[in-house]
Amino acid sequence: MKPLISDLIGPKKPTFSFEFFPPKSDEGADKLFDHITKLEDLAPSFVSVTYGAGGSTRQLTKDLVLRTDRETGLTVMPHLTCVKHTRADIDEILEGYAQGGIRNILALRGDPPNNEPYDWNTSEYRYASDLIHHIKSWGDRNKVNFAIGVAGFPEGHPSTPNRLEEMDHLKAKVECGADFIITQMFFENRDYYDFRDRCNLAGIRIPIIAGIMPVQSIKGMRRMAQLALGMRFPASMLRAIRRTDGSDESIRRVGVHWATEQSRDLLDHDVGGLHFYTLNKSGATLEIYKTLGVQNSNQLTDDPSLQI
Ligand code: FAD
Repeated sequence: MKPLISDLIGPKKPTFSFEFFPPKSDEGADKLFDHITKLEDLAPSFVSVTYGAGGSTRQLTKDLVLRTDRETGLTVMPHLTCVKHTRADIDEILEGYAQGGIRNILALRGDPPNNEPYDWNTSEYRYASDLIHHIKSWGDRNKVNFAIGVAGFPEGHPSTPNRLEEMDHLKAKVECGADFIITQMFFENRDYYDFRDRCNLAGIRIPIIAGIMPVQSIKGMRRMAQLALGMRFPASMLRAIRRTDGSDESIRRVGVHWATEQSRDLLDHDVGGLHFYTLNKSGATLEIYKTLGVQNSNQLTDDPSLQI
């Protein structure tokens, strides 16, 4: 059985993780597996697999999670969203993961697919906290202990403009049993540090893993801005992009450089973990590790034996 992520995180012991989405074809899945194998050399603490809006990748997510668990030494965490799902759906999904030996879940509310109109009053789940409750009680009934991660938003979640209320909602997720938080991607570390301080003041004491997204193209940035409403690209990053010749390769270099600097600074300031949004490619993450001068994640934790 692979470890619980909650057991891997400790003070001064950040986790390193990579996120993938499930490809739609077998050929795509095989290609992704080549990248996963390359990234396994970086010895991440865990990897995660996203869940399509409203359950659109329900089977694909499960297949990729179970295959990764079976065919690699990696600890893998499925994302699970509850929008448009019934309690019976969630029971079936939990049952499948429990039988496959999966013990970590990122519990999310999700959004209706393509932002289609959706009547939340008809929904069996309204918030991620309802899902966490359900996972906990299912686990108690079936004697399965899941480590549960939840989403956090350093720049705020668009549906709750009241940032004080938003913190109450995050705290409710922790009180329901969340073990750790993974943040939405952000590009200014001060947003993460301020979020961490606000969590601390609100009495939220679980580890906060930082979401890192190396920008790879202007098209990708536009897509990110659309998917993660409210996300801010700092002027300094935009200026760095404008200095380039506009080719995808030079924009990618700016993005990788930015993400490397973010990672270095976060590691210097006791980040709970670094979670890389890989976009199903290994190149950018491999380059970040290389530029940091390390072979794998084990070297990213402070090694007092190396005297300078
Ligand atoms: P919640 O915690 O339920 O919050 C949703 C909104 O409701 C927030 O504005 C919150 O403040 C508010 N709220 C919460 N409780 C209450 C309450 N009691 N009363 C009033 N308001 C309340 N989406 C996918 O579809 N698939 C994925 O795989 C996926 N992975 C993600 C991974 C990470 C690390 C992150 C950060 C996001 C991911 N998302 C994914 C996106 C996420 O599903 C959306 O951002 C969604 O809108 C919010 O999900 P949540 O779990 O934070 O919801």
